[in-house]
Amino acid sequence: MEDCIFCKIATGKIPCAKLHESKEILAFLDIAPANKGHCLVIPKKHLETITEIPDALLSKMITAVKELTARIDRALKPDGFNIINNNKKPAGQLVPHFHIHVIPRFINDGQEITWKANTFDGEYMEKIRQIILTN
Ligand code: AMP
Ligand code: ZN
Repeated sequence: MEDCIFCKIATGKIPCAKLHESKEILAFLDIAPANKGHCLVIPKKHLETITEIPDALLSKMITAVKELTARIDRALKPDGFNIINNNKKPAGQLVPHFHIHVIPRFINDGQEITWKANTFDGEYMEKIRQIILTN
């Protein structure tokens, strides 16, 4: 896709700090990281959200995420990780090319990756469960 920054990175038109590359996948350091070692795993093909990713490709991506997490763990010794994927703008997806964030976390790193908890009553929870199950 012409205007997509991650397509440009995938085709080498703009540079990145590459960590891993295969025929279908690329991983590189995030340019505005939450912490040291924050990186992104992307498909080279322009696909936007998780439901568009073929299962075989998604499987390879999650394996790459796991391997990168293990490497960063050995290299930088963080205290934890967030593995995050935002789908669509209201969910925080700024770049509309599918990507999985690998974010090393450190005690007292000042980052907050959270949400406000709702309290739904049992009847509403059951209604939502049924709606999901019948679709
Ligand atoms: P999201 O909000 O989930 O779409 O995250 C997009 C991420 O892409 C952000 O964390 C940005 O810092 C990162 N990003 C944007 N442009 C670049 C780039 N040229 N190289 C590396 N990371 C980038
Ligand atoms: Zn793209």
